Amino acid sequence: MQHDYDLLIAGGGLAGNCLALALKQTGLRIAIVEASTREQQQDSPAGDRALALAAGTVKMLETLGIWQGISRAATAIKDIHISDQGHFGKVRLSAQKENVEALGHVITARDIEAHVAKLVTESDIKLLCPARVVGLMAGSDAVNVNLKRGDEPLSVSAKLLVGADGGNSSVRKLLEIAQHTTEYGQTALVTTVKSSLPHKNVAFERFTASGPLALLPVADNHCAVVWTRSSEDADALCPATRRTFWPNFNTVSVTGWANLV
Ligand SMILES: Cc1cc2nc3c(=O)[nH]c(=O)nc-3n(C[C@H](O)[C@H](O)[C@H](O)COP(=O)(O)OP(=O)(O)OC[C@H]3O[C@@H](n4cnc5c(N)ncnc54)[C@H](O)[C@@H]3O)c2cc1C
Repeated sequence: MQHDYDLLIAGGGLAGNCLALALKQTGLRIAIVEASTREQQQDSPAGDRALALAAGTVKMLETLGIWQGISRAATAIKDIHISDQGHFGKVRLSAQKENVEALGHVITARDIEAHVAKLVTESDIKLLCPARVVGLMAGSDAVNVNLKRGDEPLSVSAKLLVGADGGNSSVRKLLEIAQHTTEYGQTALVTTVKSSLPHKNVAFERFTASGPLALLPVADNHCAVVWTRSSEDADALCPATRRTFWPNFNTVSVTGWANLV
């Protein structure tokens, strides 16, 4: 049976685009269906979030030829300080002691997402964008996928469909794959601060009764903050008018910090 593609990936976020780039040398006919335009993806406030990439992830991105284009935008983590509120012990990890150049790197999601999307555009990977997966029928040797491009319906077939369409995955829903959600009653407040002292490439993680607090070193002596609070505390600390809520992440981006603490 003829198929339009060997592999159809629903979702052109980090997971979908990196998978396509990892497989691009295989000779497989690959297509990505992405619902948002490049501009919408670039303008999303969720792009401001800082991602901490472990040294192993950086190695993998290097192997895929991705890291070389973004390394300059990333900040190295040289030391990590982990503590538990109310407890005496601390863990300190050091790149120097581990004999590695860095324990990890911090980069904004926008920087890495934009670069990965550019590499996909420059490759042979077919990009169906903006288009949304709205239906699918899986057979024994192919999957037929219904797409919507604006109001225009489109049908494509592939040997394999990968659902990389995020936390609210349409592919999961269409295949009726059960989802179990555990409500932690926590909200992460995410913002960036500048300290008067240099961060010296140290990342801090502190476990507290209301959840972890992380400080990640980023460029220009700024630190990205991820502050997990109970959902009631987060509401009180940061009124709805001063925040952007990222529905798929249960995360709030705060547009100003000084009045918050
Ligand atoms: C505050 C915060 C901090 C984080 N820190 C880290 C970190 O330090 N390190 C780390 O590794 N990770 C971190 N993460 C997690 C990381 O950001 C996510 O895991 C990752 O971005 C998810 O990528 P994805 O491609 O799976 O999903 P998404 O980025 O959600 O991409 C899914 C894509 O699918 C598209 N789509 C959706 N539905 C359809 C449809 N029906 N048809 C076609 N396309 C569709 C969407 O438009 C979207 O582009 C953090 C997240 C947050 C919120």
